Amino acid sequence: MSAGLPELHLHLDGSLRPATLEELARAAKKVVPADLRFHAGMGLADALSRFAFTLSLLQTAEAVRRVASELCEDERACGVTTLEVRFAPQLHGGAPIEAIVDAALEGVNGRAGLILCGLYGEAPAVLERLVDVAASRPGVVGIDLAGGPAPTHRFSLEDYARPFTRAKELGLGRTVHAGEGRPAQEIRVAIEALHAQRIGHGSTLLDDARLVDLVLERGVTIEACPTSNVHTGVFPSVAAHPLARWLARGVKACVCADNSLLSDVTTAQEVERARTIEGMTDVLLERAITNGHGARFVRR
Ligand SMILES: [Zn+2]
Repeated sequence: MSAGLPELHLHLDGSLRPATLEELARAAKKVVPADLRFHAGMGLADALSRFAFTLSLLQTAEAVRRVASELCEDERACGVTTLEVRFAPQLHGGAPIEAIVDAALEGVNGRAGLILCGLYGEAPAVLERLVDVAASRPGVVGIDLAGGPAPTHRFSLEDYARPFTRAKELGLGRTVHAGEGRPAQEIRVAIEALHAQRIGHGSTLLDDARLVDLVLERGVTIEACPTSNVHTGVFPSVAAHPLARWLARGVKACVCADNSLLSDVTTAQEVERARTIEGMTDVLLERAITNGHGARFVRR
């Protein structure tokens, strides 16, 4: 096993320390919902709805700073040595986006790269703004598109091509939540139109052999989140996750926890669970760990 684990796909607002969640809730005179944590097969929409509560506790720069700092501490404690933390600063309305991003950067204090997330359905102008904010802050290493498409959304994945192209021009990393139990075509659009170097989830990748070729050709990394995928009902079990098949095909995939609080899993536990995936070997898992370290975003 390599010295240290990588964690490239971790949402700040889904990864609060449990004691901090309770403390922030008490201070806000709120009660933590009994069903806050994810459960197997709940579906993506239900899972996404759980963030409303955690976000309601993170509406100040101080709370964002604290949670970002604790997250770095906790990841280090479970053996993570390459860390990226992501969040959508526009959802933390208590302060301007810039102040919220700066608070997260202060909390991180050089211990992780910060990724700013636009959200499916949002006006592309929001992502443009995030790219602007990122451009002047070296601690921000990349951008993401998170959440998922909905029939009511006015904007399609292609509509985010402009901010993603600008991010590329500015030397920012690009990752996109794509193919999370949805058609593989989404992954292709993320790579071809949005210049994604990494894909979050990408669970349907093997449905399209030519897409696998594209992923191999461009060296795209897939951020596999097996426990999260079981919770959203994409796979019936961690064992059924295709990670071992991806790795055996030569796809640069890594293992990520997605939301340590809501999925109740640490990065170290997620790596251990990945051992139970059908076809997984020590060699393949070691490759996933190496892939994760190698795929971290580095600002040009
Ligand atoms: Zn995610």
